[in-house]
Amino acid sequence: MLKEIIDKYYQDKRDERDKKRFYVSDAGKCPRQIFFKFKKAPHKEIEPRLLRIFDQGDYVHLRLMRDLFSLGIVVASEIDIPPQEDIGGRADAIIRINNELYLVDFKSINSNILQRMDAPKEDHVLQVQLYLHFFKLKKGILLYEGKDNSEIKEFPVEYDEEKVKKVLNDFKRLKINVERNLVPKRLPDYPKNWQCQYCQFREVCDLAGEGNIQWEEFKKKIEEAGKKQNE
Ligand code: SF4
Repeated sequence: MLKEIIDKYYQDKRDERDKKRFYVSDAGKCPRQIFFKFKKAPHKEIEPRLLRIFDQGDYVHLRLMRDLFSLGIVVASEIDIPPQEDIGGRADAIIRINNELYLVDFKSINSNILQRMDAPKEDHVLQVQLYLHFFKLKKGILLYEGKDNSEIKEFPVEYDEEKVKKVLNDFKRLKINVERNLVPKRLPDYPKNWQCQYCQFREVCDLAGEGNIQWEEFKKKIEEAGKKQNE
């Protein structure tokens, strides 16, 4: 009984996350996957169990934030980026060390992966780049914590204007796709790319094929495929 109530709580939270604009966390993500989110394409629901695992990451963030507050170096925490029409996002913290400001982004990650990491993940770097851009800062820190052993590793990130321009242009192009109902191409390394392994839209992506297609036409194909499955 209680399990069902808790699962429903997580399902409701998940359903609230309808896509209406881009988020900083979309930086570096598969454009087709983001397009499908905008269009609410049929997808595999994330199980409440996995959503609870994601929530554990939030607790790690809270603890790390508490540590930074205790050290007296937090200038601001949980800060929304300045209002933008098309992009939303919330940075974890801005801190001051030796009179210099740093944007800090926490990431919790599988401990085995963290042990092998000698550079941050590129999509995380791009997220920090966007935060640096919106908060007009020059330096950031990606702070990773291992989920199972609480080991921490930090990677400095310097503002890179070219990377920011590219991400913002990618968002602009994708916005045009969304407005024109044009499904973006698959990732070039589909299905080996790690995003495809965890993609909620894998089934519709398989059905769509490799190249650009019109969403309205494709929607009919999805409906027909659904009917055949139910026959
Ligand atoms: S399966 Fe891969 S290429 Fe297709 S939408 Fe998902 S992440 Fe993108």
